[in-house]
Amino acid sequence: MRLCRFDNDRLGLMRGDAVHDVSAALEALPASRWPFPPGDPVIAHLDRLRPEIERLGASAPARPLASLLLKSPIANPGKIIGAPVNYQKHLDESRVDRGINFGNEVKEIGYYGLFLKAGSALVGPGEGVATGFPDRRHDHEGELAVVIGKGGKNIPKARAFDHIAGYCLGLDMTVRGTEDRSFRKSLDTYAVLGPAFVTKDEIADPGVLDLELRVNGEVRQKTNTRYLIYDVPRLIEYASSFYTLHPGDVIMTGTPEGVAPVKPGDTITLEIEKLGRMEVKVRAA
Ligand code: MN
Repeated sequence: MRLCRFDNDRLGLMRGDAVHDVSAALEALPASRWPFPPGDPVIAHLDRLRPEIERLGASAPARPLASLLLKSPIANPGKIIGAPVNYQKHLDESRVDRGINFGNEVKEIGYYGLFLKAGSALVGPGEGVATGFPDRRHDHEGELAVVIGKGGKNIPKARAFDHIAGYCLGLDMTVRGTEDRSFRKSLDTYAVLGPAFVTKDEIADPGVLDLELRVNGEVRQKTNTRYLIYDVPRLIEYASSFYTLHPGDVIMTGTPEGVAPVKPGDTITLEIEKLGRMEVKVRAA
């Protein structure tokens, strides 16, 4: 199942290039009041919503995907977790490119641990990326994003798949510089998720997916998730050894080699095998 959020926060069931409005399924969500339970309610109650989404999707009229404004399919992640230097060739390029490392020695992911991106940075592909600070370098980082379903702490690798709800395409936009990652990667619009949330039953193995990112049609990043240094189960084990994971938490799994600057006017196209493709326009903030 592929779910998207579009226009005025409608819930859509995506089938190819068609989207069926299944927002009425949200009536099945439990009423909640302050303090809200942690996690994204749609992901937390996906099992309850799913039969109604499928029932409504069978009869709701199809709308062309291209006519809709796509927002982040995960509306309320409690955490957006990032994985630094998690592909060997990106580690290699980071060590030799001063525009990436700013004179700092670049070490491996186990040295840095993980980082968090602000929830206020989150947008969908239809909302685009807005770059400020025109004198600085703003890079695309195309990534596989994992969405947590069942929460937990100290999740062993062997049980990691029990805790996955599904996957999205992710852009971990980054302004290069000396500041902490959580600061440089949390500007408004610097976390893009889309085009849909794809439930895990559609992806037999997230560790064998081709990923390609193009800017204005030119290929910039091309890899397969088999080259992740910490693979998806390891990232879930690692993240949950430090913090409790909740439904809807997102793990951006890291970017491959080929990171490069974008500027206002550019169009970023990210495609991951079996997960789809999203186009994201860059504008000035
Ligand atoms: Mn990244």
